[in-house]
Amino acid sequence: MEPIKSDVIIIGAGLTGLTLAYLLRESPLQVCIIEGRERLGGRILTTYPDKGAPIEMGATWLGSKHTKLNALLQELGLEIFEQVLGQKAIYEPISTSPHQLVTLPPNSEPSFRIKGGTSSLIHQLAASLPPDQIHLNQVVQSIQQLEGDLQVMSEDQVFQAPIVVSTLPPHLLLANIKVEPGLPTDLMNLMKKTHTWMGESIKVGLRFSSPFWREGGSSGTIFSNVGPIPEMYEHADFEDQAYALKGFLNGAYYSMNKEDRLHLILLQLRKYYGKEIEQYTAYEEAVWREETFTYAPYEGHVLPHQNNGHPLYQASYLDGKLFIAGAETAAQFPGYMEGAVRSAQHVFTKIKKQWASA
Ligand SMILES: Cc1cc2nc3c(=O)[nH]c(=O)nc-3n(C[C@H](O)[C@H](O)[C@H](O)COP(=O)(O)OP(=O)(O)OC[C@H]3O[C@@H](n4cnc5c(N)ncnc54)[C@H](O)[C@@H]3O)c2cc1C
Repeated sequence: MEPIKSDVIIIGAGLTGLTLAYLLRESPLQVCIIEGRERLGGRILTTYPDKGAPIEMGATWLGSKHTKLNALLQELGLEIFEQVLGQKAIYEPISTSPHQLVTLPPNSEPSFRIKGGTSSLIHQLAASLPPDQIHLNQVVQSIQQLEGDLQVMSEDQVFQAPIVVSTLPPHLLLANIKVEPGLPTDLMNLMKKTHTWMGESIKVGLRFSSPFWREGGSSGTIFSNVGPIPEMYEHADFEDQAYALKGFLNGAYYSMNKEDRLHLILLQLRKYYGKEIEQYTAYEEAVWREETFTYAPYEGHVLPHQNNGHPLYQASYLDGKLFIAGAETAAQFPGYMEGAVRSAQHVFTKIKKQWASA
């Protein structure tokens, strides 16, 4: 099979991969992005219905300390807006006591959402790239060192380039892609125990035609120690014309089916809002643990953010030809969108040095 040749191969079209390609678009280097899914964005996934509020099933919030992400959004002309927490929240401290409406303290460091949905960032980055640069539905199975280049193989394609950047969460790279010759043992041991942020999470969202929760002096903000929803927030669009509630479901419920999960969610929300909760127009969920392009089971117990941003991820491998990038590898804000942007910038600087000295 004739290989598709380029100067840089980027594996993964999530925020790291697309930001790197965006940065490289001014360079003389020919870039090829290989993505396993049939869609772009990885852990960024906004669902856009024909009618109703877009719902973030993946990354949602950013803060003012996320300076590189904010700068990128500004450069792309994307606006942000504050997450509504409101003045009152439903609080359910313990299963033996009823829930209460509590007054929230002023928010000293608000969170923000991206106007139009987080996927707008992905769409904007992709729009800046030549369409033939991105190869969807190509699940990378191996990376092999040849004489000069590295060869990347999917089931039905062969790609070749002198530089390869993996943007997979490191644990996923180790679990699913065979690298030849093998990576150093200390690096592989590290990857085994590097947590993929939010890999075990379940996001749930309900659309409504009106924000009835505002009427009771509540805001849609829920904090519950009883669950199965530990936290939930109002998720209206920027224009405040389409409405939804969106939150997390306790990750333990991944083994249930969708119908049973919805049943439990409605049971909990009915306690707070009564029959009005039945007026939902759509239910959306994302069980990230079931996503084989995000999550792979760990051999042992791994803590949230464990080994994220480790110094071994800042080096290159296979004679300086393989970079291990992605949000989890960033030295600052690893696991988050800010980490993804910083990781792309870090690798871009290294590649730039190589091409400047070539
Ligand atoms: C539910 C959830 C909520 C989150 N909330 C927030 C938040 O509020 N704020 C925040 O900052 N961050 C949040 N995050 C984290 C944020 O989504 C990530 O930091 C960021 O999107 C990571 O981007 P990435 O490109 O590094 O990795 P990914 O998005 O994981 O991209 C990796 C890409 O590689 C592809 N891939 C995987 N295997 C293969 C293969 N074998 N061959 C080819 N391609 C492959 C994947 O399909 C994917 O597109 C959240 C994540 C989730 C899941």
